[in-house]
Amino acid sequence: MVDRAEITSGNIQVSNTQKLLTTLISAMRTERDGQHRLDRMVDIVADSMNVDVCSIYLHVDFNTLELCATRGLRSAAIHKTRLKIGEGLVGQVAETAMPVNTARAPEEPNFSYRVETGEERYSSFLGVPIMRPGQTLGVIVVQTRESRSFDDSEVITLEVVATVIAEMRETGIITGEGKALSAPHTLPVTYSGIIAHEGLAEGRVLLHEPHVIITRLVAEDPASELDRLELALQKLRGNVDEILDAEHVTVAMNSEQREVIEIYRMIANSSGWVNRVKADIHAGLSAEAAVDKEQSEVRAKMEASPDAYLRDRLHDLDDLFHRLLRILTGQGRKHEDRLPDDPVLVARNIGPGELLEYGRTLRGIILEEGSIGSHATIVARALAIPLMIHAKGVIAEALDGDSILLDCKQGLAHVRPSESVAAAFRNTLEVAANVAARYTQIRDLPALTRDGVEIRLYINAGLLADLPNLEPSGADGVGLFRTELRFLAANKIPTRRELAEQYSQVLDSAKGRRVVFRTIDIGSDKVVPYLKREDEPNPALGWRAIRICLDKPGILKMQMQSLVRGAKGRPLCVMFPMVAGFGEFKQARSIALGQIERERRMGHVVPEKVEIGAMLETPSLAFAPDGFYELADFVSIGGNDLKQFFFAADRQNERVRSRYNSFYLSYLELIRYITTRCHAIGTPVSYCGEDAGQPRVAACLAAMGVHAFSLRSASLGKVKYLLRQVNLREIAEAIEQARASGEITFEKGIDQFTGVLDPSPEAGPAD
Ligand code: PEP
Ligand code: MG
Repeated sequence: MVDRAEITSGNIQVSNTQKLLTTLISAMRTERDGQHRLDRMVDIVADSMNVDVCSIYLHVDFNTLELCATRGLRSAAIHKTRLKIGEGLVGQVAETAMPVNTARAPEEPNFSYRVETGEERYSSFLGVPIMRPGQTLGVIVVQTRESRSFDDSEVITLEVVATVIAEMRETGIITGEGKALSAPHTLPVTYSGIIAHEGLAEGRVLLHEPHVIITRLVAEDPASELDRLELALQKLRGNVDEILDAEHVTVAMNSEQREVIEIYRMIANSSGWVNRVKADIHAGLSAEAAVDKEQSEVRAKMEASPDAYLRDRLHDLDDLFHRLLRILTGQGRKHEDRLPDDPVLVARNIGPGELLEYGRTLRGIILEEGSIGSHATIVARALAIPLMIHAKGVIAEALDGDSILLDCKQGLAHVRPSESVAAAFRNTLEVAANVAARYTQIRDLPALTRDGVEIRLYINAGLLADLPNLEPSGADGVGLFRTELRFLAANKIPTRRELAEQYSQVLDSAKGRRVVFRTIDIGSDKVVPYLKREDEPNPALGWRAIRICLDKPGILKMQMQSLVRGAKGRPLCVMFPMVAGFGEFKQARSIALGQIERERRMGHVVPEKVEIGAMLETPSLAFAPDGFYELADFVSIGGNDLKQFFFAADRQNERVRSRYNSFYLSYLELIRYITTRCHAIGTPVSYCGEDAGQPRVAACLAAMGVHAFSLRSASLGKVKYLLRQVNLREIAEAIEQARASGEITFEKGIDQFTGVLDPSPEAGPAD
């Protein structure tokens, strides 16, 4: 890429560019039709740059470019010649999002000759990408017979023209016949992704970060554009400084958040990119078009960087440029803006706290990134919102308010679906409703297996809004109440009174059914914005959950007092997360009991019965001495964490997480070991990891001795349905045989027991 920082308005080439842009824009006003506009455009560029050929290639789909207009190549090739991404020099520009400038194109290794174009006569080649941030829309090429290299100012001219084309396409000025020329954001498009929470949703797109649409592309008065830019930059820097200087905020920030803000400050104050933007303004672009162009170019560079740290900073960069574009154009979502009906959120990524802010208003969520093991995913599940992750490209295409169908049975999102797709989808919705009705029929029947084992089923919850699901699901109670969600959803630490009120309401809604409150489980990816945290190299293995509560017992004490007060004398079940050894359990238990005693002394009514258990989420606790199993009133296996530590595979990292699942015989053996120890001592044991909601996994775990599950309420029906069909003894024998014959996983083996019996085989992942 060319460094334009040095090029100023005095440069003759730059003023030519400005003339070229003015001619282009006025020609676009007189031409009505998209194809004519492109034809005029290539003529104007070829004349102005004094070249023999100017051609525009646009994407027909993610992988293919089509020649849409040319001056110099054979016109018969228009809408005929197509190139794959990476194919030929044009495909190379599209793939790398970087210019190709060569004096002898036919000698380039990547040159691909298309006989219909007559291209062989042209020696020199300059191609630049037509880009929007994060998306390449096409390529513009100029060529000459004479063999020569294009100089820097010519590269800039073509880049500026490419920016204008990109914005014209984005705003629908260039449209026409044929796929490549269809109006942007109008055609139906389908994206595939990974299912993180099953379900179906029909609604309207709600972009977490709405696009800024640039309607003013060129400006005749660079001086006033530079003033606008300067003012906007001042405002941007002011915003960043404000965030940094607000001491109450930075104190509460963890170091990663602070680092992000520091990076904002650095980028906002760096003169390199600002000078390039200024050069583009001198060349005739409006301030917003120049900023947008810079964002596209820097983004493409960072995306291609082998440095993972740089790639990770893409969010920061996007965020900063968005802020600047919003200041310049006055666009962006205002607080008071109404959400669309049935909103389906489309975002690059989202944290659990942000998701809670949207709450149950969302019908579905689509993320370009995200991970199945993250707590945002768990929140989505807790809220029973279908979630698809890794849907690459959806943000660039979807617009606020577009109709959208999210099919988290197949892992597809249909943006602006055709009538036939919508009809098929509604049919699937109907089928799903029928299946749900079938589960309803067994709601009041026990989860009794064919060999006579009764499995208790509880729901996972974390919000008051989860409780209305308890009764209709037919569950025996709440097996895991994630108390930290209340902390994550607030912008300041909740008071003891507020917590007691929440716990009391939970118990009221449970109407005497068992509720297990898990004490606050923060740290790792559950970031509570108002609690100061030290930077840690590996937060999932770091200072989290019970470790925080033992080091800072004030939080646990306050929570225990709130629980006692909320219980108002009713039975109370409490368990601690992330316990790694007997010692930690004893310590936490003694703090908890101490607080109950303190409440009694203070005259508060104390629970008629108290049970104190532990989550078994670390392999080390499985091997704790018998004393642990004797002292714990119950054990709840937290499979999400247990599995990540057992396999040493980060639950949030899709690259490694999906290599292992709960069907692995080694993991099932660990579960069998834990349940055997519990049964021997008579300690009740349950399983509350997310994969308890997968019927086939639940059947394997039940065969390993887990006779109580806590799972998301939406999965309860299908798990019960399957459990009622299987014989656990037979499954346990088959698992034993598979192990004896050296198998690694039972993922296929379970099908012989379950395959045909489940009316709705789960489409989602195994955890
Ligand atoms: C678990 O780890 O399995 C669990 C239930 O806890 P969380 O997913 O909230 O970490
Ligand atoms: Mg856990």
